Amino acid sequence: MKYDITVIGSGPGGYVAAIRCAQLGMKVAIVEKYSTLGGTCLNVGCIPSKALLDSSEHYHNAEHTFKEHGIDIPAPKVNFTQMIARKGEVVKQNVEGIAYLMKKNKIDVFTGHGSFVNKNTIKVSGEKEEEISTDKVILATGSKPTSLPFIEIDKKRVITSTEALVMKEVPKHLVIIGGGVIGLELGSVYARLGSEVSVVEYFDRIIPGMDSTMSKELTKSLKKLGMKIYTKHKVTEVKSTAKTVTVKADTPKGEVLELKGDYCLVSVGRRAYTDKLGLENVGIKTDKAGRIETDDHLRTSVDNIYAIGDVVKGAMLAHKAEEEGVFVAETIAGQKPHINYNLIPGVVYTWPEVAGVGQTEEQLKEAGRAYKVGSFPYKALGRARASMDTDGLVKVLADKNTDEILGLHIIGARAADMIASGVTAMEFRASAEDVSRMSHAHPTYMEAVKEACLAATDSRPIHM
Ligand SMILES: Cc1cc2nc3c(=O)[nH]c(=O)nc-3n(C[C@H](O)[C@H](O)[C@H](O)COP(=O)(O)OP(=O)(O)OC[C@H]3O[C@@H](n4cnc5c(N)ncnc54)[C@H](O)[C@@H]3O)c2cc1C
Repeated sequence: MKYDITVIGSGPGGYVAAIRCAQLGMKVAIVEKYSTLGGTCLNVGCIPSKALLDSSEHYHNAEHTFKEHGIDIPAPKVNFTQMIARKGEVVKQNVEGIAYLMKKNKIDVFTGHGSFVNKNTIKVSGEKEEEISTDKVILATGSKPTSLPFIEIDKKRVITSTEALVMKEVPKHLVIIGGGVIGLELGSVYARLGSEVSVVEYFDRIIPGMDSTMSKELTKSLKKLGMKIYTKHKVTEVKSTAKTVTVKADTPKGEVLELKGDYCLVSVGRRAYTDKLGLENVGIKTDKAGRIETDDHLRTSVDNIYAIGDVVKGAMLAHKAEEEGVFVAETIAGQKPHINYNLIPGVVYTWPEVAGVGQTEEQLKEAGRAYKVGSFPYKALGRARASMDTDGLVKVLADKNTDEILGLHIIGARAADMIASGVTAMEFRASAEDVSRMSHAHPTYMEAVKEACLAATDSRPIHM
C-alpha cells in the first residue's frame, strides 16, 4: 500500500500531525521505534514528571499544611515504590490513549526504527524489516538529553531526567547541574520527599530564559523548600563511584565548590535527535546544533519532507510541537494555517508554578520598546489566603503608548492554567485596560491578572 503521509516519531508533534492528516482525508502511517506511542512527553517527560510533582506535592502538604487546615493525621510516610508505580500507571493510560486515537483515525502504526531509503521510501527496522512507500514524510523524531563534554552519564549515579523518573530510592543528596525547567521540577520532587538538593547553574539566575522577576521569586520559594542554589558556578568535574558522586564547580570568586552527593542529575538541555535516520540518503542537512533546517512552512530542503517539534528550531515544548503538527498537516492539505511563535507559553511546574507568555522585561529593554509594568501580589488575594498559597505575583507588561499587552508573567498557584488568559488576550491584541474592564469571578486567582492590568493601565488596582 502507498501512504499519502508517513510520520516518523510518535511524540506530541508526530501523533498530532498524524491525526490531523487523517482528519483531512489522508492515508497515514506512523513509525515509532519504541513499543509505546507518545514520545518523550508521554513516556519520559511532561506526563511522568507531572505525576511525580503532584504526588510529592500531596506529601509535602500533608506534612506541612494539613495541621493548619485543621486536619490532624499521623506523620505521613513516603511509599516511593507506590509513587513510582502510580506514575507508571498514569503513563500507561496516556500512551494507551494514543494507541486508541491511532486506531480511531485509521492510522497504521509501524514499530521499529525508521530511516530513509529515498525520499519516497522509508525502511522500518523492527522485529521484521519493512518498507513503506509514501508520497510525503513528516519528521518528528524529537530530542534526547544532552551533557557536557567532560561528564560521563553512567545512568546509575550520574543520570538524566529519564533515570530520575524511575529511581529505586529517594536520593539523600541530589546534585543537579542546570537550573532550567527540567532540573528545577525534578529537584522539587525530591526536595519535597526529603532529599537534600543542590542546584548548580552557570548563568546568574535560574530559569534564565524567563522574566527575571520570576527567577527572583522562584529562587526565594525554592530556598524556602530547602534547595541550595549556586548561580554563576561553572561545573568543571563530575566523578562517581559505586555509591557517590562528586561535583566540582568554579565559584564567582574563583574558588572551587565541591559537592558530594549520592546522585547527580545532569539537566543542561536537550539535543535534536536524528541518529540513523538516513538524512544523507535524501540530502537533508542539519544546523550546528544538529537540528533539521526548514523554511517558514516547516518544509525541509527536500520538497516532500517536512520536520516539526524538538528536532527543528524553537522552544522544546510539547504544545509547540503539537501546533507545528497541525500546521504541517493543514499546509499539506492546501490550507493557510498560522503559528504565532511569540505566543507559545512557557511553564515551570514547581510550587509555586511559573508561567510566561509574550515578551519578558529584559527583551523589551533590549528592543528599546517603551513599556509599563503592572503587578499584583498573591498575598492580597482572598482566594490565595483561603488556600494558603500566598507566594507569588502577576506581572503584566504593556506598551507605554498604546497599552497593548506585550507580556504576561505569573508565579503562583495555578499559573500554568492561568497563562492561557494571556495567550487569548495577546492573540486578540487586547490592551491592559480591555482586560481590567472584563468581569473576573471572585474569589479566583485570575483576579490578580485583572488587578495587575489595572495597575498597568493607570496605577489603580482596587485591592492594594
Ligand atoms: C522531564 C521532562 C519534562 C518535560 N515537561 C514538559 C512540560 O511539562 N511541558 C512541555 O510542553 N514540554 C515538556 N517537556 C518537553 C517535551 O517532552 C518535548 O518538547 C516534546 O516531547 C517534543 O515532542 P516531539 O514530538 O518533537 O518529540 P518526542 O516527544 O521526543 O518524540 C519523538 C519520538 O520519535 C521517536 N523516534 C526518533 N527517531 C526515530 C526513528 N528514526 N524511527 C522511529 N521513531 C523515532 C522517538 O522514539 C520518540 O518517541 C519535557 C521534557 C522532559 C525530558
